[in-house]
Amino acid sequence: MSASNQSTHAESPAGAASPDALAAEIRAHGLRPTPARIAILTHLREARDHPTVDGLRAALREHHHDLGQATVYQNLERLTDAGLVARFLDGAGLLRFDANRTRHHHLLCTVCGRITDVTLEPGEARSVDRLAAGVSEKKQGWAIAESQLEMRGVCPSCRG
Ligand SMILES: [Zn+2]
Ligand SMILES: [Zn+2]
Repeated sequence: MSASNQSTHAESPAGAASPDALAAEIRAHGLRPTPARIAILTHLREARDHPTVDGLRAALREHHHDLGQATVYQNLERLTDAGLVARFLDGAGLLRFDANRTRHHHLLCTVCGRITDVTLEPGEARSVDRLAAGVSEKKQGWAIAESQLEMRGVCPSCRG
């Protein structure tokens, strides 16, 4: 595993992309840029709230995109397969979606369930790489491709 993976600190690489730019990006990943896909990707990039399928559906409805659960789920699957979106299970076992494709880690609030992105400084990222390298030495036979930390605690609004 390489420790030379220089992480950039661009906070919002495509946060303010226009619908046209998003459509072009979706097309470049081999998908048809339907209004549903553009709406989903726009929400995921702007809100950065790692929603569940139902959470995303509710958020889209507020923006007058009334999509069925199956439609939202299928479009998320296609966007995930195309590499535009990542999915993961949170600590509670809920399936969540994330459009931040730069290397980052997660802070999870155990009270409200909110998940916030954490980008490490290069030195901190190297420590995580070293940790993963140490684990792959101890657990012989494992080739670790990537590592992502999930730190759990209580967020500022739940503490206040
Ligand atoms: Zn909270
Ligand atoms: Zn994330």
